[in-house]
Order: sequence, then C-alpha cells, then structure tokens
Amino acid sequence: MADWQTWMKEAAYVGGEWIGANSGETIDVTNPATGEIIGTVPSCGTDETMRAVDAAQEAFAGFAGMSLMDRVDLLWKLHDALMDNKDALGELLTIEMGKPLAEAKGEIAIGAQYVRWFAEEARRAKGEIVPAGVNGRRILVTKHPIGVVGMITPWNFPSSMLARKIAPALAMGCPVVAKPATATPYSGLAWAAMAEEVGYPTGSVNVLTGSARKIAGAMMDRFEVRKITFTGSTEVGKELIRQSADSVKKVSMELGGNAPFIVFDDADLDAAVEGAMVSKYRNSGQTCVCANRIYVQSGIHDAFVEKLVQKTRDMKVGDGREDGVVQGPLIDKDAVEKVEELLEDATSKGGSVACGGGRHDLGGTFFEPTVITGATQDMAFAQEEIFGPLAPVFKFETEEEAIDMANDTVFGLASYAYTKDLGRAFRLNERLQYGMIGINSGLITTVEAPFGGVKESGLGKEGGSQGLEDYMETKYVCIDGI
Ligand code: NAP
Repeated sequence: MADWQTWMKEAAYVGGEWIGANSGETIDVTNPATGEIIGTVPSCGTDETMRAVDAAQEAFAGFAGMSLMDRVDLLWKLHDALMDNKDALGELLTIEMGKPLAEAKGEIAIGAQYVRWFAEEARRAKGEIVPAGVNGRRILVTKHPIGVVGMITPWNFPSSMLARKIAPALAMGCPVVAKPATATPYSGLAWAAMAEEVGYPTGSVNVLTGSARKIAGAMMDRFEVRKITFTGSTEVGKELIRQSADSVKKVSMELGGNAPFIVFDDADLDAAVEGAMVSKYRNSGQTCVCANRIYVQSGIHDAFVEKLVQKTRDMKVGDGREDGVVQGPLIDKDAVEKVEELLEDATSKGGSVACGGGRHDLGGTFFEPTVITGATQDMAFAQEEIFGPLAPVFKFETEEEAIDMANDTVFGLASYAYTKDLGRAFRLNERLQYGMIGINSGLITTVEAPFGGVKESGLGKEGGSQGLEDYMETKYVCIDGI
C-alpha cells in the first residue's frame, strides 16, 4: 500500500498534467506540530488558472455527455481509492494540518462517504412533469449540469471540505477547478492524484495552488465558470459574492459560525458534557460548527462546569501522530494570538479561568485546552468566532433568555441544545436562527443531511439531496398543441 509521500504532489494539476508555476516560484508548506518545512507547491496565478479553466471548459461537453452509469462507476472507483489509501492520506493530512491521526483518517473516510452519497444521489437527479393549467399543454422540468465550477477551500478540513464540492460536481458532470488553502495544499492535490489514478477524463479535475487573489480573480473573470463554491471566512465570502456579480455566477458560501451550545436543567449531564467536549475541542476548536458559546441553566451550571473542567484537564495535547493525542497544535501563530486576545478580553471583563489559560509547555502553536466561567454577552467571543480550544461558559435562567442570547449574532451555522423536554426541542427548532440544530448531539455533520448556514453564515447546502441541486440548472419545457 502507498505511503503518504506517494500522495504528496508538489505540483499543480491542470488539463491532465502536473505542472509548476510559469514563474518557477514555489511556496513552502510547514508541519504545524514541528515547524519543519515538509515540501513546496507551485505559486500559480492568473495564467495557470486561465489554462485550467480552458481545460475544464474543453472537457465539459464530453464529461456531461458521459452516460450516467459511467459517471457513477467513476465515483465508486474514487470512493474505493480513497478508502484503500485512507491511512496514507490521513497521515499526510496530519502532517500538513496538525489534527490527531484518528481525526485525519476519519476525515478521509467522511470524504469517501460524500463521494458514495453523491454517486447514489446522481441516479435520483430527477425532473418533474407538472400539471399544466390549460388543455393541450405539457410542462416538463428538467435538470442539467451547471458547467465549470470554481472551488476555494480552507485549511481546517483540507480534504472533506473539497469532498463536499468535488463529489456533487463530478456526479452531475461538471468539471472542477479547485484551489485548496495555502497552509494545507497536499490534501487538495491528493484529490487530483486520486482522480488521475481512477481515470477521470482530461480536464475534468484541475487543482491549483498559489495566490488566492489571483486564482480567485481569474475564476471570476471567466464567464465559463458558472458557479463558485467557497468555504472559509465570512469576510472573504462577502468579497467573492460581490465579484461573482459581474458575470452572474451561481454561488454557494459555507462561511463562519458562532455556535451556541445550550444546556437546560433537565439535560442528561454526562451526555451534555460529552457533547460539549466533542463539539468544542474537535480539531483543536478549529471547526466552523464548534461550540463557541456554552450557555448553561443555573440549576445544572456548577455540576456541568465541574465535569467539563475535569475532562478538559484530562486531554492529551501533542503531535497528532503520537498515540493518545486528542488535541494537536493550532494552525499558526496568528491563531494562537487570536485566542490569547479573546482570553485577555474575557478576563478583563470579569471572566475566570477554570483550567488551562495559556500557551502549552510544548511551545510552538500548542495551546492549553481552556475553560472560562462567568462569560457574558459583552465579551468579544459572544460575537466573534474563537477558532481555538477556549470554552466560555455563560449562565442563564430561562428558555427565553437562552434563545435571545443564542440568536444575538450575525452568524447562523450550527447550534446545539441538551434537553429531555420534547416540546422545548420543537420550540428551539422553530426559534433558533441556525441552519443546523443538534438536539442532544454535539456532532451533527453527516452526508445525508444538508449542511449549511443562514444569515451571514452562508448560502446553499452541502450534502443531502440539496447538495446536488446546487450543481444543477433547472430548465422548463412547455410543449403546446398536444
Ligand atoms: P479564509 O481566510 O477565508 O480562507 C479560505 C480560503 O479562501 C483559502 O483557500 C484562502 O486562500 C482563500 N482566500 C483568502 N483570501 C482570499 C481572497 N481575497 N479571495 C479569494 N480567496 C481567498 O478562511 P480560513 O481561515 O482558511 O478558514 C477558516 C474559516 O472558514 C472560518 O471562518 C470557518 O468558520 C470557515 N469555515 C466554514 C465552514 C462551513 O462549512 N461553513 C467549514 C470550514 C470552515 P489562502 O489559504 O491562500 O489564503
């Protein structure tokens, strides 16, 4: 079986060829756990992107015209290639991103599940025959691939964020031009290597590394790119929505979050603490669906905090490749400084550090898992995404108060609540302004469900049947004179 070096491609993949940047320039890629440079990738820009869009556009008619079952077979081969190489791809992911190996291998497996899901969904991309209002007419609604798709993804899930975009695009016959994050390019380039391995047609999959502005700018300039799908910060997402207006591209935006995690007095205490641990600390707190604000009702507050602190203290921090490590480093120095600033802001406004509270003895970008009690709505993390292992606990009295505080943000991605009251669960579903709500669960991402936010957390859905819809155009045919 291939090792991780086999899949570490130090070149961009354009029109079926592995290429360097025209300028010959490269970018270093660093292992955040050790600070060592692992390798380089090409610093591509406008010209290489134009070439990739040309290749994708050239591939479009043939790829979209391929029989459905041939496209489905290719997806199954891609799924199998990912699963056969899960260990190597997981190790590569850990080396460039830092997350524990078990999480990294899990991410590859989830990516493969998306491929499988969309191979199945492609067979159900049905249209409709709609009753016409007048006699002698028939109305047909049909579905078609949207065209070349530009994709831009972040570093926190460098493989699965691409899976949710590449799989439905390929399922519908849409060629792909993708740009993974500069901090973690190898997991993105590995998708191109896998596509090459299983025989995707030339030009149907292109992956570029380099300047985000230049690559995204060229994608935006090209009319042939009919859809842009982005996962990343709300700030960049807004800029891309503005840029896409010039050629009226369809956009999908998976943007930032600020998830409330609400624990009511009637919750199962152990389950709530377990849920908070997984939701808060997975990926060192660097997920868009991480619990950002933990609201706990006064009757259960002290017992919850005691258990949360105990479990937080027990966490093993270290290089993700070491046995038993459950929290790796943060992605870079800026991420550490951001957590420090939020911590300082909270303590200056009356918050107390219950455990952790600073950089880890391991040095580098390792940070102690930290619990803050006495959190209040005027603290910066009530409005900002933390993106680090800092768990702020707020106390509340009534359901009304919890819902109001939870909704007091421009974000609307994930939310969580622990309660045994079924009526309350329904009230929360109706009143929480979030695209996703976990009731008695801290881990809700799954291929079968539409992942995505409301408000400034985004547009469009990934996964579920909705995830395929985003890569289609809908046409209608009116046949008269029947
Ligand atoms: P980011 O700074 O927005 O970067 C994301 C991607 O956009 C990277 O590939 C980046 O390239 C590129 N980019 C940066 N500036 C750009 C520009 N001006 N034009 C075009 N592309 C540009 O976000 P991040 O720090 O990597 O990721 C963390 C954010 O992603 C968080 O806010 C998190 O909540 C969000 N996220 C959301 C979801 C979701 O599903 N809703 C999932 C995961 C993460 P470079 O790497 O080259 O800078």
